[in-house]
Amino acid sequence: MSNQCKFWDCFENISPVHTFCGDHFEWFQIGDIDECPICKKGKFARFPLCTDCDIKSDEVVNSDQTKLATIQLLSAVDDVILMVKSDAPTWPEDKQKQLEHLEQKANKVRRELQSG
Ligand SMILES: [Zn+2]
Ligand SMILES: [Zn+2]
Repeated sequence: MSNQCKFWDCFENISPVHTFCGDHFEWFQIGDIDECPICKKGKFARFPLCTDCDIKSDEVVNSDQTKLATIQLLSAVDDVILMVKSDAPTWPEDKQKQLEHLEQKANKVRRELQSG
């Protein structure tokens, strides 16, 4: 099975064990590319979103400020989830459920931003 470069507008076929094509991997390594908080594809780090999601979310939320705030919040929530996730298996069950719930909410907001 072939695999495509994770960068949002790159359709380069790559080996299934790789995430990015050669060029995009180099940029990812030097920090020029990071993850789009909405679609999770690669994007240039200097932009808050990949162009694809930027266009889509413009249609969804009419206020740019609201959009940006939501995206920043989503990204912060993602960071928190990522940070605590490795410890989560040692937590009591109700705490784990809360984390699961948070994750589901974040995914729901992400889907809403994506689909419009
Ligand atoms: Zn690529
Ligand atoms: Zn995106």
